[in-house]
Amino acid sequence: MKQVRNNQNTSALADTDVNPNSVIIGNGEMADLIRSFDWTHNPLGPIDAWPQSLVTTVNTILQSPVPIVMLWGSDGIMLYNDAYSVFAGLRHPRLLGSKVVEGWPEVADFNRNVMATVLTGGTLSYADQQLTLYRNDVPEEVWMDLNYSPIMDESGRPGGVLAIVVETTQRIQAEKRQKKAEDALRAERARLHSLFTDAPALIALLHGPDHVFTLANPIYMQLVGQRVLIGKPIREAMPELEGQGIYEILDNVYRTGEPYFGSEVPVKIDRDGKGDIQDGYFNFVYKPSCGESGEVDGILVHGVEVTDQVNARKRVEEIAALNKIITDNATTGLLIVDNNFHCTFMNPAAEQITGYTFKQVKKLRKSLHQLIHNTRPDGSYPPESECPIYKTLSKKTTMVGEDIFVRPDGSFYPVAFVANHIRQGNTSIGTVIEIRDLTEEKKAQEEQQRLISITNQRNELLVLNKAKDDFIAMASHQLRTPATAVKQYISLLQSNFSAPLLPEQMQYLQIAFDSNERQLKIINDLLITARIDASRYVLSKNKVDIVDIIKEAASDLQPALELKSQKILLSDMKRTEVLIDKNEIKLAFVNLIENASKYSHPGSEIKVYLGNEKDKVAITVEDQGVGISKADTLKIFDKFTRVDNELSDTVTGSGLGLYWVKRIVQLHGGTVRVSSEINKGSKFIVRLPI
Ligand code: ADP
Repeated sequence: MKQVRNNQNTSALADTDVNPNSVIIGNGEMADLIRSFDWTHNPLGPIDAWPQSLVTTVNTILQSPVPIVMLWGSDGIMLYNDAYSVFAGLRHPRLLGSKVVEGWPEVADFNRNVMATVLTGGTLSYADQQLTLYRNDVPEEVWMDLNYSPIMDESGRPGGVLAIVVETTQRIQAEKRQKKAEDALRAERARLHSLFTDAPALIALLHGPDHVFTLANPIYMQLVGQRVLIGKPIREAMPELEGQGIYEILDNVYRTGEPYFGSEVPVKIDRDGKGDIQDGYFNFVYKPSCGESGEVDGILVHGVEVTDQVNARKRVEEIAALNKIITDNATTGLLIVDNNFHCTFMNPAAEQITGYTFKQVKKLRKSLHQLIHNTRPDGSYPPESECPIYKTLSKKTTMVGEDIFVRPDGSFYPVAFVANHIRQGNTSIGTVIEIRDLTEEKKAQEEQQRLISITNQRNELLVLNKAKDDFIAMASHQLRTPATAVKQYISLLQSNFSAPLLPEQMQYLQIAFDSNERQLKIINDLLITARIDASRYVLSKNKVDIVDIIKEAASDLQPALELKSQKILLSDMKRTEVLIDKNEIKLAFVNLIENASKYSHPGSEIKVYLGNEKDKVAITVEDQGVGISKADTLKIFDKFTRVDNELSDTVTGSGLGLYWVKRIVQLHGGTVRVSSEINKGSKFIVRLPI
């Protein structure tokens, strides 16, 4: 066998140097192809003339499962194995026997460099070399591990290049995909992280059953005054939550795996981390998070603080509640009408005054004017244009006045009203009307007028009464002097001062004397009454024993009692000091004892007795006389009141005595009462303060 040494011309195999061993062996596709290939017109020449080194190498690479190509000779004639044929794509089988720079024109320069290097004894090695190949007629970016080494020919010099081509495109692309996926994941994580940190919400992650903070975003940190949270269980990190039910909710979420949604939950929180606990309201979610095992291993806290909103709403609610209290309790009726005069609000007072409930008003769908101002007391219909509500709206002004409204039952009622046009910004939104029912006020005014006229009448009567009293005083004074003179002259005649009188004359004189006595008695009563009623009347009080006064009165009346064979019995006369005007009180008792005598039959008894009561002394004058009916006891203390009884015609009386008895006793702060029964006698009880 003749070996061609010139590796610049590997095809120059001498016909005579046929290598009997140049047998391409193997059953593979490439073995078949190489064997059947017409090498005659190829620079390599007929196959059986191939040098042994070429044949051996071809047989070697055909056995390899790794893609291997040989570039033989200076033209780099390509011979390759089955694995390479797969790599070559549609270029296969054209590549077989072609020059490498023609077979792979798109990487001709690369291969020229390979050839130049390796055929001069060098080796080349590329890991993941990227090349663009058109193996399937379309440009294709491929990556390969390329190892080039020389194939020594029989001369011991490089006769060709052995190229092991391991395509790494799939791996590279997988790596690229993975890198891309990792980049995307990283970007996603970064995005999530920035979402988390930039989120305008409170976000924290708690891990494990003790709820250890593993994450808290800036807003959360700000809420807790930048306290150190990470790595701490919540009970340690935020002790102020103790007793607020928060830990318990977290425990429950962790245990059950059920999320918790809190709405406007009040939480007391240490906002500066130094113990300044403040109230706050939060909407939040505690969402359980699960580990790889599927078990709950933590809780995501997501929330927003709504303190300002809750406080603002509470303030609005408080104001609304206060407004409601005010309008509910206002005694003034408040109504609001819209621009169509339809009522949009009525307080309870307005309902009460108008007789309509707000519900009824809304149901009736009528203007307020049609409801409460539709008729006048004279039956006429007040036109809408005259309605103050209408005027307020049409003139956009305030109206104040009085009017008469009508209730659903047709009854009229006077009202005072203020109707005030209301606007929001520049827009008219209706009228607010305040109404006050004047019925009671009008009644009160009438009552006041009545009282004024009564007072005026009374004053006139007082003036008249005074004139009458003055007249009585004047008349009694004027009457007493001549009556007293008459008495004196009768006495003179009776004492036979001028000449002895006949018995009959004496009898007439006695009648004249008695008449004069009665006259004087009445004049005296009138004088006492005038004195007591006089505005300048004053008591002259001293401490005296009431017993002495009673005894004096009884003694003064003794002659009169004897004339009627009446006895006076004084009992229980226990010494009792009272501060009184002695003369006036005596006068009172004289009158009471005198009455007891006057209105009793001859021979009867009069009892006077004392009784002490707490801070009063009670003096009773009791007789066995004709008595007084129940009805008459009510009037006997009035001026000029005489009550007819079986003895009244026989006794002198003015009807004034009991009047001034009562007056004198009252001026002493005491009382006088009577209890009596017809024909059984009477008791007059005087009580005086001790
Ligand atoms: P008079 O001067 O008429 O006695 P009084 O004011 O003293 O006036 O009494 C008013 C009337 O009360 C008497 O007219 C008499 O009818 C009645 N009255 C007063 N005291 C008694 C009495 N002790 N018993 C019955 N009637 C009496």
